[in-house]
Amino acid sequence: MSNDLINHLKFYRDLGFKELDIPVSIPPPAAESVEASPVVAPPTSAAQAAAVKDTLQIIQDDIGDCTRCGLHEGRNKIVFGDGNPNAKLVFVGEGPGADEDAQGIPFVGRAGQLLTDMIEKTAVGEGITVKRPDIYICNVVKCRPPGNRAPEADEMATCGQFLERQLKNIQPKAICVLGATAAKALLNSTIGITKMRGEWHEWNDIPVMPTFHPSYLLRAYNKEAKRLAWEDLKKVLHYVYD
Ligand code: SF4
Repeated sequence: MSNDLINHLKFYRDLGFKELDIPVSIPPPAAESVEASPVVAPPTSAAQAAAVKDTLQIIQDDIGDCTRCGLHEGRNKIVFGDGNPNAKLVFVGEGPGADEDAQGIPFVGRAGQLLTDMIEKTAVGEGITVKRPDIYICNVVKCRPPGNRAPEADEMATCGQFLERQLKNIQPKAICVLGATAAKALLNSTIGITKMRGEWHEWNDIPVMPTFHPSYLLRAYNKEAKRLAWEDLKKVLHYVYD
């Protein structure tokens, strides 16, 4: 067997072929041969990378013990996200608070309890079967901003790459953004939440409903905002689960 044929067969073996049922042309003798290009181009590293599907676990592993922005300095736990990885509905808040930072789970404090109640009680009232574990919840930034301040633009830009990957991986039917900061991060809009809420917007072809952040709703004087947030949530639940 000629060296050319051996090399040719090795090439197919390296591509993973166990048997060849396609004709392999044996190159003509060296004196007459012209440089032949391979029948199947070897896979490029970009093609190989594209073939590896992103998963929430891969994204979380990529975050690792992240120090990509200044928020890592004051955090206890990175709050990646929580819920059903195949959720039809994703809620996005702005960043973890003290309870979330301590537990590493988003929306577990008072605001989180309110959000859970809003979702589950509205669903029951509307005849829709959905519980908190059915949905997915995460934030724009994964580490707690000191003193519960809003995340800075550069922190959101740095951490936003992970949110983008989470949403692209889950591919929900709809996203509900909670509060002005999350709405701005996702929709790149300067319009206030009061004007944006209640109407559908879009992120990467996924419908997005902005509404008030539950911590804003906890303030005693916000009865009207609560009513509006419930209306928004009804719209979202019917759109996703009807
Ligand atoms: S907020 Fe995001 S980018 Fe910044 S340190 Fe935490 S995980 Fe990393």
